[in-house]
Amino acid sequence: MEHNHIKNYINGAWIDSSTGAKKELINPANGQVIATFANSTVEDTKTAIAAAKESFYVDRTWRDTDAPTRADKLFEIAAALEKRVSEIALIESMNNGKPLREAEADVIDAAHCFKYYAGLITKPYGGVYDVNNAFGKMRSFTVHEPVGVCALITPWNYPLLMGVWKIAPALAAGNSIIYKPSSNTPMSSQILFEILDEVGLPKGVVNMILGPGRNVGDALSSSNDVDMITFTGSTEVGQQIARGAVSNLKKVGLELGGKSPNVIFADADLEGAVEWAMIAVFFNQGEVCSAGSRIIIEESLKDVFLKRLKERTEAITIGDPLQNPDMGPLVSKEHMETVLKYIEIGKREGADCIAGGYRYTEGACADGYFVAPTIFDKCTPDMRIVREEIFGPVVTVQTFTTEEEAVQMANDTEFGLAGAVFTSDGSRALRVIDEIRAGITWINCYNPTFNEAPWGGYKKSGLGRELGVHGLEEYQEVKQININLTPGALGWYEN
Ligand code: NAD
Repeated sequence: MEHNHIKNYINGAWIDSSTGAKKELINPANGQVIATFANSTVEDTKTAIAAAKESFYVDRTWRDTDAPTRADKLFEIAAALEKRVSEIALIESMNNGKPLREAEADVIDAAHCFKYYAGLITKPYGGVYDVNNAFGKMRSFTVHEPVGVCALITPWNYPLLMGVWKIAPALAAGNSIIYKPSSNTPMSSQILFEILDEVGLPKGVVNMILGPGRNVGDALSSSNDVDMITFTGSTEVGQQIARGAVSNLKKVGLELGGKSPNVIFADADLEGAVEWAMIAVFFNQGEVCSAGSRIIIEESLKDVFLKRLKERTEAITIGDPLQNPDMGPLVSKEHMETVLKYIEIGKREGADCIAGGYRYTEGACADGYFVAPTIFDKCTPDMRIVREEIFGPVVTVQTFTTEEEAVQMANDTEFGLAGAVFTSDGSRALRVIDEIRAGITWINCYNPTFNEAPWGGYKKSGLGRELGVHGLEEYQEVKQININLTPGALGWYEN
């Protein structure tokens, strides 16, 4: 059977890899091939970089377009996404494994993100400073300019949305981009680029290159013709990207992994805390960078909480994502095996697996990459399942007796992406949140994300922020302009 074949999009044209190499894409719900894509080379990547460079530095049409006109294009992109929600969601769900309703929500969010940045870019702001010093009276003000050629690399867990969080602000700011989606999940990106093509952006402003991180990704991060690299993915690859970026000291944005604490006090609303704890770690199959993968609970509540969490976890429906179960398959066989390996490590380390802990193969799931939602009780801080990001439906449970102990456990990690606290004591909630070393936090909820609010991590969870005003500023340089208000000779040198 002939499958959909996804090509690179370079300088306004759909182009195959120069070697003609293809790679297959697998539906993780059943292991079947669903499409192929161009497996590109370093040379192909250089072609894409050259197109972006030409558009930014020579053609200049997009960067010189006024902000309201750029905003109009972004609104057109949003409207086109909204028209194709069902089609994109279906493809995303088949390619990534997420339940259809979650894929639909992602497409709607992606459209909102374009609208948000369309609105924001038409409201420029800057500082104006009056100075009067030894050199006389001056007025200083700032303007924002695009960074230039931006390379954007994304992971597979929110394929469309992670791309749009970068593409929307980068375009709003007037940059030219080269986008590299994950090799596991480029299918929704094909539709996004069809839309970018239809709205008629100047040639070379948006380019998509498909292929392995090793060649394509490395070529982007180490290129001296790239002015900025922004990456969402694992901490290990993020560190490699930062090393590659040293060549020309390009601007770097990194959205990396997490091992986030979900701190629950005994006075929390029990049913609310249980349900949010499930959303925290089982939403999107637990393939969420901000997942609340460490439950840190007050000792006196643990038994009743875990009894309820286990009951509800065991009632989670698992199946074909197109039928809208609670959980679909993990993204790939390789990733499923990694998650199962961590489950075995947890059992060997002596943690008590009270729910799940196995590959789920019931009925139609036999050939897919499903893992039952898993809870490990009696975890200790030294265990690998407590320290390392698993990126699947696996949660660890630790207990505390004092607020200080809860905070210490929450921060006992090299990551700092997210965290939450559940309590009915408002002062305590704020005290604990103040102490948590993480960029995204929630009180009495877990995971809601907004285009308006900055997203990003402390420590090994990254550098910089996406979304909100900060997410636009990442794609801008700030220029200082100083005006001498009293021109003429200063008389500084007496001779
Ligand atoms: P990954 O790091 O393996 O890959 C991410 C992207 O980088 C892919 O496109 C991949 O092809 C590319 N890549 C791989 N090696 C590269 C290299 N040497 N140079 C340049 N690019 C390279 O991550 P993944 O498995 O796709 O995604 C899971 C990870 O992403 C998790 O660690 C998760 O926490 C993280 N993540 C973080 C956020 C956030 O906002 N902080 C959001 C989503 C996912």
